[in-house]
Amino acid sequence: MREIKEFTDDRLKSWCIHCGTTIADVPSNRDHVPTKSLLTKTCRERGASYDSGAGDDLDYLPQVIVCQRCNSGFSSDENYLLCVLHAVVAGSLYPDPNKHPEAATILRSNRQVVRSLKAEPDGQLPLFENLEPFTLFPDTDKIKRIILKNARGHAYHEIGEPLFRMPDHVMFVPLERLSPKQREAFEASETGEDLAVWPEVGSRMTVHLLDEEAMSGGWITVEPGRYRYSIGWSDAVTVKTVIWEYLATETCWER
Ligand SMILES: [Zn+2]
Repeated sequence: MREIKEFTDDRLKSWCIHCGTTIADVPSNRDHVPTKSLLTKTCRERGASYDSGAGDDLDYLPQVIVCQRCNSGFSSDENYLLCVLHAVVAGSLYPDPNKHPEAATILRSNRQVVRSLKAEPDGQLPLFENLEPFTLFPDTDKIKRIILKNARGHAYHEIGEPLFRMPDHVMFVPLERLSPKQREAFEASETGEDLAVWPEVGSRMTVHLLDEEAMSGGWITVEPGRYRYSIGWSDAVTVKTVIWEYLATETCWER
């Protein structure tokens, strides 16, 4: 996607959006939202090239400045989510390397995650039962932590709004589990309609709203088929994402 320089209130940039620490007081770094591991190798390489000052400006990948401690604190859960997605899409915890080379490599190098996914926690609903006979019982807390991390990052990146408090809800579900009606509601976006409240002047979202190419039906695509997100901010701040056109997520902060 094209990089849009933002001009939101600089005071908002003073804190780590995850822990609220003053950025100036601690080591910090740029954090990609979503994590680059969810994107294809080609897209990751293009993004890295753009970050280093070369490449096309359409290769920009969204990123925010966060404290180093938070940044590294998410790695293991991000890795966990990546393993879950690979296993689900490949339909196995031990995918055939010929059919699913990337999944096979990732899952082979994460044996501990694979072991934990083989255990069925007490009383937990199988989230991927539609892929019988393959069923996974992922740790929903780990997945929710990453969904929340991404939602905070997207909201901050697009509308310049730091959301320190816990959201009112975080949900995730395979897209195909949604009924046609639910799917329609999920795909609908506030930004496709008349907006009661405009985002802060100078935020990236104001630029996106004027650029039909950047946003299709209210969704911002980081990489087609891999990751897209949308943000609503009038009644509540609602961040929706679709990961690998498989997992639908929604995080909501009521006003
Ligand atoms: Zn932090």
